[in-house]
Amino acid sequence: MTQRIESSGYLLSSVLSPEQELIDIRISNGVIAEIASAGSLTPGASVTIESAGMQLLPGLVDLHTHLREPGREDAETIRTGSAAAALGGFTAVHAMANTDPVADTAGVVEQVVRLGREAGYCDVYAVGAVTQGLEGLALAELGAMAHSMAQVRVFSDDGKCVSDSLVMRRALEYVKQFDGVIAQHAQDPRLTEMAQMNEGIISAKLGLTGWPAVAEEAIIARDVLLAEHVGARLHICHVSTSGSVEIIRWAKARGINVTAEVTPHHLLLTDSLAETYNPIYKVNPPLRTNEDVLALRTALADGTIDIVATDHAPHPRESKECEWSEAANGMLGLENALSVIQESMIENGLSNWKTIAERMSYAPARIGRVDASSGHGQIIKVGVPANVILIDTKIRRKVSEMKSASKSSNNPYIDRTLPGQVLYTFLRGEMIVANGELVRPL
Ligand SMILES: [Zn+2]
Repeated sequence: MTQRIESSGYLLSSVLSPEQELIDIRISNGVIAEIASAGSLTPGASVTIESAGMQLLPGLVDLHTHLREPGREDAETIRTGSAAAALGGFTAVHAMANTDPVADTAGVVEQVVRLGREAGYCDVYAVGAVTQGLEGLALAELGAMAHSMAQVRVFSDDGKCVSDSLVMRRALEYVKQFDGVIAQHAQDPRLTEMAQMNEGIISAKLGLTGWPAVAEEAIIARDVLLAEHVGARLHICHVSTSGSVEIIRWAKARGINVTAEVTPHHLLLTDSLAETYNPIYKVNPPLRTNEDVLALRTALADGTIDIVATDHAPHPRESKECEWSEAANGMLGLENALSVIQESMIENGLSNWKTIAERMSYAPARIGRVDASSGHGQIIKVGVPANVILIDTKIRRKVSEMKSASKSSNNPYIDRTLPGQVLYTFLRGEMIVANGELVRPL
């Protein structure tokens, strides 16, 4: 058992800062109280964490999480999903709006935030729907959600594309008034009717209806032009193709206010996994080709893609243990995201921990306009709220279905060996995860 003596705080000794300096750091009264070179701080009344050589990072922020509550508590609850988030090193997550009821009113988004607070594992921010009922027709109560206690700044019909150009234009105009952002799930619905997997050589071989890259790219091209025309902020969810990267690169060079995310699974897995016919690999947008994966990695490294977001999408067994064509889209992501990033970005030399701190903490907090008092997405320095995590980057571990806080088990990494493990998560100085386990079990 780890002692929890909050008033005396914790001493993390000889940890590697995101900039790879060996430092001691003291957490006290919820904030970073002291930082000094390694070996120079004495424990005093603080509890010393055995942390020598561990990687210190700011608490991660996920801009794209499905927590399924309200409505599908058989798949996940805000409590289980936020616990999974903490185990994965997240101190804040944004809960997507495609719940039942849809989070398209102030009442629902406030409920989501409240349930997150009650659980207390990490901060839960609500994403508001763009359109009523995710139907793509009439705008939801965007202003009421923005001005509610939930202070919504990110709006998305994720799961569905805002495909009507005029609705998209009006949404961008509306959220501009309060510095909100529209997070678009870019998928032309007509081009992807009945789609089962990436359209390409493998879909042809398997005889499965394809989801062509152009269905994503055409929407992104339209939306960056709309964002430019309106002068509003646009965010692209789960970018999955090399062509999308090219369009975003062009839009940024032109000065358009667009940001983009990539999921861990699109950085590691490819459409060849569909040949297993195992629906655990069925996801939307689908796993793409190796060429796409390499383009996404390069784009994340050079900042064309701003952030990693998990698109954590729990599903009950019956939705996944069936034929491929019948199975639901989506995979778990919170608990293994950082390990997948270590494997796909750090270990092959494409990126470093300082950049990953930007892509998984500072930038997502900025895009979500997360309030400064929360401490999320802030550089680790004396006086800021202590949202920090410690990772053992040397460990290699086999991913186990048993060791998960999620209510669902559609985890594509089960039995895969991944590097790294989050051992400690602190939320404003409170130890949430210790030795890789929840301090307060579910
Ligand atoms: Zn989506």
